[in-house]
Amino acid sequence: MQSKKIVILGTGGTIAGRADSASDNLGYSAAQIGIDQLVQAIPALAAAGDLLVEQVCQLDSKDMDFDVWLRLAERTAHWLAQDQVQAVVVTHGTDTLEETAYFLQSVLSPSKPVVLTCAMRPASSLLTDGPQNLLDALAVAGHPGAQGVVAVCAGVVHSALDVQKVHSYRLDAFDSGDAGPLAYVEEGQLRLVRNWPETQGGRAQAAMNNIASWAVGKAWPSVEIVMSHAGASAAPVEALVSAGVQGLVAAGTGNGTLHHRLEAALLQAQATGVRVLRASRCANGRVLPKATDVIADSEGLSPVKARIALMLALMASSKA
Ligand code: ASP
Repeated sequence: MQSKKIVILGTGGTIAGRADSASDNLGYSAAQIGIDQLVQAIPALAAAGDLLVEQVCQLDSKDMDFDVWLRLAERTAHWLAQDQVQAVVVTHGTDTLEETAYFLQSVLSPSKPVVLTCAMRPASSLLTDGPQNLLDALAVAGHPGAQGVVAVCAGVVHSALDVQKVHSYRLDAFDSGDAGPLAYVEEGQLRLVRNWPETQGGRAQAAMNNIASWAVGKAWPSVEIVMSHAGASAAPVEALVSAGVQGLVAAGTGNGTLHHRLEAALLQAQATGVRVLRASRCANGRVLPKATDVIADSEGLSPVKARIALMLALMASSKA
C-alpha cells in the first residue's frame, strides 16, 4: 500500500525563531528559520512518515492578517484535496494561533486533520520546545480517525473552537477552558479524552471557491474589538463608527455586561446598522443569553474568535 503523505506548512513564529545566545528566551527574532531546516534538524521526524514541506509565509504571528490567512487556507485546502495527503501540519507563532485555528476550522471544516503547532522558546534555545511539539503534531496528524483543525502544544491537543493562549511565558501556554483538551500525546501515542471536532464533509470545494473570490481584491469587513472596563467611555466606539466600522465585538465584563456609557454608544452604533456582539473578557465561561438582551452574545466565542465569526458573516451577507 502506498504510504500517505503529511504536508508541513511553515508560517514562522517562535518555533522558527533565533536568538544570539542559547540562554536568551526573550530577545530573539521570530520567523528566521525555514521550515525545511526545522524539519531536517529533527531526525525522528523521518520515521513519522512521508513528509512534504512548504513555506507559506515567514512572520511573527502577532502580525498575522487576513491576506496571509487566505494564502494559508488556500494552500491547506489544496493539499487536503490530494488523495495521497493524510493531513496538514502548520507551524505557527503562539500569539494568534487560536485565531488562525478558528479561521481555518470555520472556512474549511476539514474531514482530514489540520494540526497547528508552535513553540514558546526559539529554536536556538538551550531547551527549545519546538522539536517535541512538531513530533507530537505529526503523531496527531497520523492518528487514525483524527479530523478537523486542532492545536498541539506541550503534549496537549486542543480543538480550534476552545483553544486559547493563557500564559505569556510557560511552555504549556494553551488551555481549552471548560471544554478541556481533546487528547494528550504521550511518547508518540494519543490518549483521547473527547471526540474530534465536528466537520462538514464536502465543504472544501466551497471553501476553495470562497477563498478564490475573496482573494480578488475584496476589502475585508472592518470589525473591531472594544473592551468594557471601569470608567469606560463612548469615545472608542464613536471614533470607530465615524471611521466606517461595520462590526464591533464588545469584550464585556463577566457575563458580557457593559459599562453604561459603552453600552449606550454600542446601542447607538447598532441602531445605525453596525453589527454588534457581546463576548466576555473572562478567560473561562461564556456569555449566557437572557430574553431581555438587546445586544446579541457571541455564542461562547472569545472576543478574538467572535471578531472572525462576525467578519465571515458580514462577508457572506455582502455576497448575497
Ligand atoms: N511572537 C511569537 C509569534 O506569535 C510568539 C510565539 O510564537 O511564541 O509568532
